Amino acid sequence: MEVRPYDVIIIGGGILGLATAWNLVNQYPGKSVVVMEKEPFVAMHQSRVSNGLLHSGIYYVPGSPKAATCAEGRAEMIRFCQTNDIPLKTCGKVIIATDQSELFQLQELYLRGKRSGIPCELMGPARLKEIEPHAQGLAALHIKSTAILNYRLVCDKLLALLAQKGCYVMLNTEVLSIKEMPTETLILTNHGRHYARYLINCSGLHADRILHIAGKKTDVKIISFRGDFYRLRDEVTDLCKAIIYPVPIPGLAPLGAHFTRGIDGSVECGPAAALALAREAYHRSQINPKYLLGILAFSGFWWLLGEYWTTGVAETWRASNKDAFVKKLQKLIPEIKNNQLIKAPSALRAQAVSLDGKLLQDLIVKESHRVVHVLNAQSPSATACFSIAKIIIHKLSKRFN
Ligand SMILES: Cc1cc2nc3c(=O)[nH]c(=O)nc-3n(C[C@H](O)[C@H](O)[C@H](O)COP(=O)(O)OP(=O)(O)OC[C@H]3O[C@@H](n4cnc5c(N)ncnc54)[C@H](O)[C@@H]3O)c2cc1C
Repeated sequence: MEVRPYDVIIIGGGILGLATAWNLVNQYPGKSVVVMEKEPFVAMHQSRVSNGLLHSGIYYVPGSPKAATCAEGRAEMIRFCQTNDIPLKTCGKVIIATDQSELFQLQELYLRGKRSGIPCELMGPARLKEIEPHAQGLAALHIKSTAILNYRLVCDKLLALLAQKGCYVMLNTEVLSIKEMPTETLILTNHGRHYARYLINCSGLHADRILHIAGKKTDVKIISFRGDFYRLRDEVTDLCKAIIYPVPIPGLAPLGAHFTRGIDGSVECGPAAALALAREAYHRSQINPKYLLGILAFSGFWWLLGEYWTTGVAETWRASNKDAFVKKLQKLIPEIKNNQLIKAPSALRAQAVSLDGKLLQDLIVKESHRVVHVLNAQSPSATACFSIAKIIIHKLSKRFN
């Protein structure tokens, strides 16, 4: 019996794969779209952010693609949450300079915000105390529009809406190999063969591996970083009113140990970041020798290590030593004590690294005739997912019509 190919198969049931499927079924109602996800549920990896931020976009260069997708995606996410009764709370965020050396960078962020039209206020310690009474710093930037939501609820809603539109999300279905042919693409999974006219790779931590098995080469590597988190005990959550971030270290992602009061009222703090020893190593003890050898054989890893080895050692130390981690948090909230923190689940971040060891910040899209690969969909890709989905679909639509 002849098997008809699907119009589009999307690999990955994270927020990006689901948002892309959603935009596709709305834009092309007649097309058959399927999502393949290797886990038993959607949003089991990077998109598992239950205390997620709807970012303002203040970190990104005004007019850059990242600033544009953040702004557009943010507006669409607000609309999606309003239409589908998903709780979203605008709570604001402060970025705090605790050291003289950070003041210039804070001022730069303020100017960036102004240029991007993001309402923000630069303030001294007294005004900071009015917003976050337990935080301390030399100066702070208050961004009022930052909001909080549970992205897992967004993914669950997308799953339900896709089912209503006849788009099937095949769970427990792992893509094992891909063969691009002149008229279609053969996709071999643990549940047999499937054919698609077009394929989209939104596989997050595995994106470069999928690209590789599809026969395409790239000079960037996805390196997995584990972020260890803690949660404030319920009786001390008042120490953080909303969201408190440090000034980002230039060249590194705008992270640094921070505090986030989630939509459920819990306060998460972290991360302490360390190199994961397997793509999906949520625990220190998980090691995949093949993955590790691949990293060690990649020149970009050694350049990266050369540039950031002191930061790497300090972060790895904090990931394994709670006292050291608490000390870092105390720079923002001095009252925090070791016994007020409970271990929370760790998270993994798929970071693209270039051959010369740069931590790449932008989305990478690689195309062949029948496949679109999406790499490095890192923060703020949950905020921006509906906008990034448009970029992906635009690549396909040239061939669709
Ligand atoms: C700790 C952390 C906090 C973050 N917080 C925020 C935030 O507050 N706001 C924000 O905007 N962004 C945030 N981000 C970024 C955002 O979460 C990610 O950019 C986004 O979730 C990426 O989604 P994705 O669908 O590309 O990847 P993923 O969610 O990782 O999904 C990829 C999926 O592909 C599946 N897959 C992989 N290989 C295969 C295969 N062979 N076959 C089938 N399926 C496969 C995986 O199982 C997975 O479900 C955060 C990221 C992290 C790590």
